[in-house]
Amino acid sequence: MYPIFASEMHPLRASSLPDFIACPMSVYGKMDSESGVAADTGTAVHQAASVWHKSKKKDASVAIKVMRELHALYPLANLDTADAIFQRYANDERNINATTILIEEKIVIRLPPTEDDKTQAEIVLSGTLDQVREGEGGILTLVDIKTGKSHEGLDMLNHYAMQQACYMYGASELLGRPVHRAALCRTNDYEYKSRPVFWHYSWGLPIAKMMIAELRQTIADVRNGRIDIRPSQSACKWCQYGGPQNCIPARTDLDLYRS
Ligand code: SF4
Repeated sequence: MYPIFASEMHPLRASSLPDFIACPMSVYGKMDSESGVAADTGTAVHQAASVWHKSKKKDASVAIKVMRELHALYPLANLDTADAIFQRYANDERNINATTILIEEKIVIRLPPTEDDKTQAEIVLSGTLDQVREGEGGILTLVDIKTGKSHEGLDMLNHYAMQQACYMYGASELLGRPVHRAALCRTNDYEYKSRPVFWHYSWGLPIAKMMIAELRQTIADVRNGRIDIRPSQSACKWCQYGGPQNCIPARTDLDLYRS
């Protein structure tokens, strides 16, 4: 029997949430992990940033050395590109002076199913959140480093909104105190002096919780057999199916297999 979607046996990766919200079918049944040059290069940058933030001296050369030594963990990464991205990150005073209380933290987010969810199985999301930083007055901010170029500005904030909402909630549960804010650090913006690099969400934890209620309903729909197909230029461009001509027949096949 196929495991229940977004359950203990088949957790939904938080990093899949942007794709899942855009088109549930693009993620439904997809078990493979993210890999590729861009994804692995991003993982290498995260590795360097993690080592750097955890060390007292914040020596960029040490962090880069560790990043290069662990190449086997992200075999497709372009390490020279990762090196250049990280150097810019490590020169930013906002990062140098940051007080990080969580760094590269593996997290499991557990949510109750909706009343109409036929499975009544607990919803389980998994992922690794980049950082939680503590600012003035003890205000906690979730910071997610984005090394990709495909989304920018408000489009980027909206694209990653559900992922950040879940991490805010998960980090708050983990720490036992509210993570009030969230921001994306878009490293590609270091190349443009006019861009802020840090993009802050205008909403906080209360709105995040409302968004998560919407997510629970979408997961219930999938579990109840309604797997929406929502073609759009941005979603289909990166999807494994490559267009509705492929995903609609594939959905029929999956339904037959799982019934
Ligand atoms: S090809 Fe487009 S419509 Fe089909 S599953 Fe992928 S994103 Fe959705």
